[in-house]
Formats: sequence, structure tokens, C-alpha cells
Amino acid sequence: MFRLHSRNASTVKPIRVAVAGANGRMGREVVKMLVEDEAFSFVRGVSRSQAGNDVGETIGLGPIGVTFSDSLETALLEDRPDVLVDFTVPEAVKRHTEMALELGVRPVVGTTGLTEQDLTELARLSEEHRVGAVIAPNFALGAVLMMMFAARAAKYFPHVEIIEMHHDQKLDAPSGTALKTAEMIAQNRDEVQQGHPGEKETLEGARGGYRYGFRIHSIRLPGLVAHQEVIFGGPGQTFTLRHDSIHRESFMPGVKLAIQKVMDLDRLVYGLEHLLEE
Ligand code: NAP
Repeated sequence: MFRLHSRNASTVKPIRVAVAGANGRMGREVVKMLVEDEAFSFVRGVSRSQAGNDVGETIGLGPIGVTFSDSLETALLEDRPDVLVDFTVPEAVKRHTEMALELGVRPVVGTTGLTEQDLTELARLSEEHRVGAVIAPNFALGAVLMMMFAARAAKYFPHVEIIEMHHDQKLDAPSGTALKTAEMIAQNRDEVQQGHPGEKETLEGARGGYRYGFRIHSIRLPGLVAHQEVIFGGPGQTFTLRHDSIHRESFMPGVKLAIQKVMDLDRLVYGLEHLLEE
């Protein structure tokens, strides 16, 4: 268990947090945030390739006395964290979240790629065990506000397309954020015929993916981090909402908020917007 700063004895007990994917790009950022914030106690990092190594040394913080485990199950059973933060891969995240819920550890999940059916099943499991969970396709507060504003704008501008842009190591497309934005827009948007009814693609995929009656386009390039534009069109005008995460630290205030809020939940919350005050 490690914190960089000593706590004032009068403050509340730190929240004990384990991180799956702790040696990944997002996981490293989460570990840094946890060890620098006295509200948290970082108890274990999970990595299949770094077992036994000091987490801090591996990620450039210097030794912190917390080692990597290569087994999530062992980490959850032996370290009994309050919260598991998961930033891993689409094929592992459902199993990890189920395991945490079954062992009474509250999952905070940033890994994208979960299907609607996965989410329904995990919500049921969370309710059954009365263990809170937060799953958020985007922890950047600016991106969450963009989604909320897009949902509002869709009432007045039903013609809309989404363009999401990410680094070229991203495994899923479209992004979880784009799908979540589309879902929130669809709840407020009158169904309209977008584009020309006779439109034909002369190059497959040119018009992007189709969901809820409109298009989502994915761009993958080195140099990008995580960016999204929601473009609305109306007679004689367009209206664009854009958010850019230019560094992974942009996600940390949202991760911190989710860890704190999940302690008081007894069900699964999908999307950080449900944790923000209006
Ligand atoms: P990354 O750098 O590739 O890290 C993923 C980590 O997962 C790796 O370090 C790897 O660690 C571990 N891993 C790989 N395969 C695994 C498996 N089969 N079982 C268990 N662990 C496995 O990826 P990243 O950029 O950090 O992104 C991680 C996830 O977060 C992605 O789904 C991404 O889309 C998502 N993301 C979400 C947000 C958000 O705000 N919600 C923001 C950014 C990214 P070991 O090899 O050491 O085990």
C-alpha cells in the first residue's frame, strides 16, 4: 500500500484501489494519480508481463513498495481493494468486471468495447451482488459535457454526423465515446431521413458506420490522442461541438470522481454524465 503524501489523521480513510492494466498507457496515468492523491491508497497493479516488479520503478516514479501481480483474481482476493480500476482490452474487461463484482470489489471501468448485452448482464450482476460499478467510455469531463450538449442540440438539429479521431493503436472502432454520444443524441432527436435517399457509396465505407439513423466516422493516426467532433446541419447553418484530449491526464479528474462516487453506489452506472451535477 503506498501514498506519496502523509495523511492528516483527521481525514477519512483512503480508498484502497487496485489497477488492472497498470502498465498500459492509461493504467500508468491512473497509478500516478493514485499515489499522488492522499484520498487513495494504491494497493496493487496487475500486469501479465511485469509480475513481481515494483510498479513505481517500472513506470518511472521510483520504487513505491507495491509490486505487480499477474493474476487479477489473486490481487482481488489477497489485497481486498475497495475499487478495481480497469484499463485493459476489450476481450478481458467483461471477465474482469464480473470477477470484481462477484468478489465484492467495485469496478470502475474505462476499457471500451463492451456490447449493449455485456452492459445489461453486468448491470444485472451488480444489482444481484449489490456492488456499485461505474463504466464510462470517456472519463474526460470536457468530452462528457460535449456529449450532454450534443444531446441537447439534437432537439433542434436532427441532422447530425459524428467524427471521432484516435491514435493508431486503438483496437475498437468506432470509439465507445462516439457510440455513447450517438445513443444520447438518439434519445432527443426526431427521426429524419439524412442525406439523399438515392445516395450510393462508390468506395466501401466512405460514408462511415450507421447507427440510430446517422453516420459515425473513425479516423486512426499516429499523433492523435482522443478527439471528437459532432457536426449538426440545418438550413443555412452548421453547428460543431469539438473536444480534444491532448494528454491522458485529461481523463484523471473523471477517474478520481468515479472512484469516489462508486463507494456510495449499489448498482451499475454507465456514463460519467450520471455522476455530474446539473
Ligand atoms: P494499452 O496501453 O494497450 O494498455 C492495455 C493494458 O492491458 C496493457 O498494458 C496490458 O498489460 C493489458 N492487457 C492486454 N491484454 C490483456 C489481457 N488479455 N488480459 C489482461 N490484461 C491485458 O491501452 P490503453 O491506451 O491504456 O487503453 C486501455 C483501454 O482504455 C482501451 O480499451 C481504450 O480504448 C480505453 N480508454 C478509455 C478511456 C476512457 O476515458 N474511458 C480513455 C482512454 C482509453 P500487460 O500486457 O502488462 O498485462
